[in-house]
Amino acid sequence: MRQEVINRAGNCCEYCQMPQMFDPATFEIDHVIPEKMKGKAVLLNLCLACFSCNNHKGPNIAGIDPETSNKAFLFDPRNDVWTDHFSWDGPFLRGKTFSGRATIELLQINRAFRVAHRRQLIGEGVFPPRSSL
Ligand SMILES: [Zn+2]
Repeated sequence: MRQEVINRAGNCCEYCQMPQMFDPATFEIDHVIPEKMKGKAVLLNLCLACFSCNNHKGPNIAGIDPETSNKAFLFDPRNDVWTDHFSWDGPFLRGKTFSGRATIELLQINRAFRVAHRRQLIGEGVFPPRSSL
């Protein structure tokens, strides 16, 4: 099942789009709905997440949109379309929706070291993946 999740994700984090090949930490299988909330270990509830995204997401399914202070469900890779919620602004990920912004905030996708890493990969011409454009 792990391999199916990896293949479906194109071996990229389904939140921040980082390809596994550019991240030294092994990507993890995330339960979109956490096990704690009875989320099942089935393909429809699993996604591939980099260590950083998965670690910050923890058992959460919602966050706060920093722009409007609205509560919002986190981006759901199984039911939402990534490009509906996010877009790239150079190395910065921007949220187009409450969910997109709440996800970026909670998962700390624009932390300085992550932005610096993406800036370097952009310079090498290997980021972002075409699927996120
Ligand atoms: Zn990620």
